[in-house]
Order: sequence, then C-alpha cells, then structure tokens
Amino acid sequence: MSAFPDMFPDGLLFTLIQWLQALSAIIWTPESRTFWAYWLSAAVIVVIWATASWPSRKQHLKPWLTLSYWWNTSTRQDYLLILLNSLIFIGSAGFWLVVSISMANWAFIALSSLSPAAELATSTSLTLLVSYSIVLFLAEDLSRYGLHKLLHSRWLWRIHAVHHSASILTPLSLFRVHPLEKLLYQLRSSCVHGLMIGIFFYGFGVQQQAWQLFGISGFVLLFNIFGANLRHSMVPISFGKLEHFLISPVQHQLHHSPGYSRQNLGSVLAIWDKLFGTWTQANNEQTVSLPKVDKPLLHQLLLKR
Ligand SMILES: [Zn+2]
Ligand SMILES: [Zn+2]
Repeated sequence: MSAFPDMFPDGLLFTLIQWLQALSAIIWTPESRTFWAYWLSAAVIVVIWATASWPSRKQHLKPWLTLSYWWNTSTRQDYLLILLNSLIFIGSAGFWLVVSISMANWAFIALSSLSPAAELATSTSLTLLVSYSIVLFLAEDLSRYGLHKLLHSRWLWRIHAVHHSASILTPLSLFRVHPLEKLLYQLRSSCVHGLMIGIFFYGFGVQQQAWQLFGISGFVLLFNIFGANLRHSMVPISFGKLEHFLISPVQHQLHHSPGYSRQNLGSVLAIWDKLFGTWTQANNEQTVSLPKVDKPLLHQLLLKR
C-alpha cells in the first residue's frame, strides 16, 4: 500500500517513482553521457582550452554561467523532450533485453545452420576480451553512423529534424530527440548487442563480456571523460589533424549548422564519414551557425512541416 493512498493509486505512484528514477539516472549514473563527473571533466577541458588562447576564447566560458543559456525557447524544448521520452520509455528495459536475446539466438541458429558452432573457446580470455571489445565498439559506432545517415534521408528526416531544430546546444541537447528516434536508436543498440553476443557465442563457445571500467564499457567511459558532452555545446573545440580519425565537438556542431547537416554523421570515429564521403574538417570557428527555433514543440512532435 502506498504512503499516499488518497492522492495516488499504487500503480500511478510506482510509475511516478520510476519516472523520477529515470530522470535522475541522466545525471547520477555513469552509463549516462551526462553523468555529473563527465560534466566536470568537460568543464576542465573547456578551461584548459580557453587558457591556451585566452583573449579569443574567454568569450566561450561566459554562457555557461548565464541563465539565458540554460533557460530559453530551445533549451525548454530540450527539457520537455527529456520529460516526455523518459515517461514514454518507463519499464521498457525488459523488452529490450528480450530483443537482444532474440537477436543473439537468431544469429547463433543462422550461423550454426551454415557450419557447426565452436564447442570451446580456443583463444585466451585476454585475446577474446580485447577482440570482442573492439568488434563491439566498431559495430556500435558503425551502426550509429548508419542510423544517423538514414535519419537524414527524406523518409526519416522529419523525425530527426527535432534534434536539429536546437538553436542553442547544451550537453542536455543530446536528449532532444523525437520519441520515434529514441525508439530507433534503442532498437539498434539491442540488435547490435544481441548480434555480437550470438556471433561470439557461435565462434568461441562462450558468452563474452566487453572491456569494462567501473561497470561500463571502457571505450564509452573514455569517450565521455574526454569531452563527449562538448559535442552539444557552443564551445568550438577542434581536434586539428586528429579530426581525420575522431569526430571533434566542433565537427558535430557543424553538423547542426543547416548548410552542413549531411556532414560529420559519426559519433566517435571519423572513419565512417571518410569512407562514405560525409567527412568535413571543421576547425574554422566561424562556420558554425545554428538555426532559430521557429516551430512549437507540438508541431515538431506531430512531424508537421
Ligand atoms: Zn543529424
Ligand atoms: Zn547533435
């Protein structure tokens, strides 16, 4: 029985608690890109970057401390989408697990029908750990690129346009997505993880875990610590020549600029953009210009033109 029997039925109270847990997880769990410690590391990176060329870069520190940067038409839409998406996807973890397991089974059965599966791992556990971690990371990054490219096709663009309508980028703009886009990304993630588990179980006869640090993927942790949050920010940090291999914050900000929205579709690695002809180097601070928010959120959610 709930503590507030007259105010909330048990089911509603349970949903409310789950909703609050999902919202707090955005800041309090290391799996989330916007975990508080990653904000701190991003702040350190911004300060170091600004100090290296103080007269021209100090202007980029100011917005972080002003209310108008965090509370405006664009960011209010971000916050509403965070509230809406976390409510819609409450309690869906079990469903996504079933999708992963089904994909793993399907991959195992499909491969076994071609030739018998391995009975025991023949590689050392370290070799397996390293190879599984790298393959999973590449599959994740490539599938993200592929889905992002699809979202820029004329069939799915109106769904993804919600993310691109931000006129101010803050780390929380990561969550500024239409519920259908969130659904597609979740489906992608569950399918890729399931497929990789099935393929490795077929090939080595064991269920392999990826390299983890503090309970999360080591690659994801490094990506998040080294400034992933700055992709959605107004700080134009470039990686210089490294942008041939890794997508820098300013490259993603350029992707949000209307004239370049089909460029730099990658998440972590730039190699997919290079391979498929969508790569643009973006070390010129003047090239980033974000659109004005010109549609109410409801219009965007209903996919109206
Ligand atoms: Zn995009
Ligand atoms: Zn973005």
